[in-house]
Amino acid sequence: MATDPNNCAICDWAASDVIMRNGGTFDGLLIDCPRCGRYELVGVGAMALSFQWPTEMRNALSCAARQGSESQQPIRILATNMEDLARPHMNSRAVDNQERLLRAVAKRAIRPHRAAEFSVKSDFTVIDCYDQDEFAWHCESLEKEGLLTRKGGGGATPLYLTLTALGWKRVQPFPQTGGILGQCFVAMWFADEVRAAYDEGIKPAIIKAGCTPIRIDQKEHNNEIPDEIMAEIRNSQFMVADFTGQRLGVYYEAGFAMGLGRKVIWCCRKDQIDRLHFDTNHKNHIAWQSPEDLQNRLYTRIRATILDTK
Ligand SMILES: [Zn+2]
Repeated sequence: MATDPNNCAICDWAASDVIMRNGGTFDGLLIDCPRCGRYELVGVGAMALSFQWPTEMRNALSCAARQGSESQQPIRILATNMEDLARPHMNSRAVDNQERLLRAVAKRAIRPHRAAEFSVKSDFTVIDCYDQDEFAWHCESLEKEGLLTRKGGGGATPLYLTLTALGWKRVQPFPQTGGILGQCFVAMWFADEVRAAYDEGIKPAIIKAGCTPIRIDQKEHNNEIPDEIMAEIRNSQFMVADFTGQRLGVYYEAGFAMGLGRKVIWCCRKDQIDRLHFDTNHKNHIAWQSPEDLQNRLYTRIRATILDTK
């Protein structure tokens, strides 16, 4: 592979269709390839190594480069990071790849009923495919599932993919609330220190908003969350999570609820707001000072964000 130094350094695409120029740094190359999109190859070491990349690495790197290019974030290949760049594209799950393909079609379609055009030879890297046969297999599978239709694609003809109504529903799902309407799971520390926060703050706020609070007073065992809690989070329309006390279980339960598409209202006693984990400290927390303060603000927040009333 890489038979000519003017060919694409990743996929060996013929130099006539490849643009290669100095990337701004004295030893960097900015390369535009039909298959790999735009990427940078930086350093003499990386350039020398590029002639020895094994085929699988090239295939995966080509996907990495193309997808970076499509999302306007071209990858920079150095002598030290090529494997890290390639690895995530080597063993992608087929179902994830197909979801990505549906989104790629949606992105390219000008109107919902119009076809998106793909080049058979160079566009299979918009998802993690190593060649055009693999891409064709994904397209065929999605067509059999009724998610898209195919036209063209023979010889040099572009492949035209059109999403069906079912395909669009997959790409643009309705916001999923799920759970029992009005049921609110409360995730918080169980300690005397915050008893009043629940009894005089969270509980009356939820009830006043016309909802039902669910709180399961169970101890954490080896940091495992009991099944009953998971089931009740599933059954709930939304969650109130209070991070006072910094319990790991509360972070876990809030993450689980978010993964299910449930809204989470974040709360924390004001004196502990600086101790929140950095993953969540950007959330708009209710930084409460007293149970009464918590009750008022939580009630307002539920009405504004969950019930959608002013
Ligand atoms: Zn290429």
